[in-house]
Amino acid sequence: MQLHGWGRFPRADAELIEPPSAELFPEIFKSERIKGSLIARGGGRSYGDSALSKNIISSRFLDNFLEFDETSETIRCGAGVSIDMLLRTIIPTGYFLPVLPGTGFVSVGGAIAADIHGKNHHTDGSFCDHLVRFSLLLASGEIIECSPKTAIDAFIATCGGMGLTGVILDATLKLEKVPSVCIKRESIVAANLEDCFDLIEDNESSKYSVAWIDCLAKKNALGRSILHLAEHNATGLQKYKSRRRLSIPFNIPAFLVNKHTTRLFNNSFYHLRKRTAGTNIVNYDSYFFPLDNIKNWNRVFGQKGFFQYQLVIPSDSAKRGMKEILNVVANSGKGSFISVLKKFSKSNENLLSFPEAGYTLTLDFKNEPGISPLMKKLDDIVLAHCGRLYLAKDARMSEDMFKKSYSNWEKFIEIKNRLDPNGKFASIQSDRIGLT
Ligand SMILES: Cc1cc2nc3c(=O)[nH]c(=O)nc-3n(C[C@H](O)[C@H](O)[C@H](O)COP(=O)(O)OP(=O)(O)OC[C@H]3O[C@@H](n4cnc5c(N)ncnc54)[C@H](O)[C@@H]3O)c2cc1C
Repeated sequence: MQLHGWGRFPRADAELIEPPSAELFPEIFKSERIKGSLIARGGGRSYGDSALSKNIISSRFLDNFLEFDETSETIRCGAGVSIDMLLRTIIPTGYFLPVLPGTGFVSVGGAIAADIHGKNHHTDGSFCDHLVRFSLLLASGEIIECSPKTAIDAFIATCGGMGLTGVILDATLKLEKVPSVCIKRESIVAANLEDCFDLIEDNESSKYSVAWIDCLAKKNALGRSILHLAEHNATGLQKYKSRRRLSIPFNIPAFLVNKHTTRLFNNSFYHLRKRTAGTNIVNYDSYFFPLDNIKNWNRVFGQKGFFQYQLVIPSDSAKRGMKEILNVVANSGKGSFISVLKKFSKSNENLLSFPEAGYTLTLDFKNEPGISPLMKKLDDIVLAHCGRLYLAKDARMSEDMFKKSYSNWEKFIEIKNRLDPNGKFASIQSDRIGLT
């Protein structure tokens, strides 16, 4: 069948295997039924080709909860359990997850494989910093236990390792006690990029922090944005929010997403939010997952799909680098509807994890003529400032760029070769960037 990631580009013909229980995974591996390369797939929320291969093994039925331990404040669940399912279970008990992505439809396996980050990396680090342990099914059919203290090499290669070491079957996650899941959000207007950086730095102690940038504003308004700072409100209900989801039933004609509609959207978004700036109490769902109410919003970019370009630039040159990036984007007119700037604190030990101390910017680009040269120009700026791109969003990075910017790639290959000596686990992405 033909499959793709969230960006709907590229598409690949693949054999999809969906074992109905965890017990069947090792049996399938040992039976040698799978011919050719293989990669795991969770919620399919990575944008590019990291979960595409000749054979794809789905964690869809690894969706069971195994243990909730209030003493150690941990939960153990199958790797196919989604963030949304986890929240539905833990919120009524007064707990929350320490790190959340921008959608609830990511699976636990996918969150570990990309070592995802949230709006609080500057205060709480990334997903795997709160991971107690997981079980990993190797290509041989053997299952190993991994934690920061056992099978350390397998742990640091699998966390952020994009499924290339094996299949995560289940995991134990640390939970966080919160006073409520109502979010006290303060929205502050930043007139330009300088202003935005200053505001983020001045409010570093705020638990959550994210700036929505008008990426098409130019000159003195370059980087004008709305910064959302947030904390859990001291009072409020511990209530899971079930949602009614609107659906986009067909591809929006691609011509509707153009220079003019994008500029109009960015302009209106900025001015609307500017008018409503101030402090509000909002539900966690609308703060963390603003797009989840629209099913298939990825169809907005038309049949050919889109790229999400997420970069990080280290602290030293983050301001200069971001300014150069935004200048190129604003002048190209090919900006995205929603661009997000966040601060990262220091990196962890995981070999291919994306975050490092600095700033990260996320841009969406429709797949259209002229977009490749634009992204190549941005690549050069990112590299010139010693930055890198996020593998979970990538669909087109070159091997050269990957190897220049991920300094631990050789150590990663060395560990992968030990865990997977016959090179079973590979994706279209890992072949492209020279990891397999
Ligand atoms: C709207 C939206 C918002 C997002 N916001 C954020 C954000 O704020 N922060 C962030 O960091 N990311 C964000 N992401 C990206 C997303 O968190 C990552 O791409 C994540 O890896 C997706 O998980 P998934 O379960 O959908 O995995 P898939 O997309 O199916 O797979 C992603 C990778 O994980 C591997 N994988 C999946 N399951 C397993 C398993 N059981 N064992 C081993 N490997 C496995 C796959 O092989 C692949 O390499 C966002 C994505 C979307 C669509």
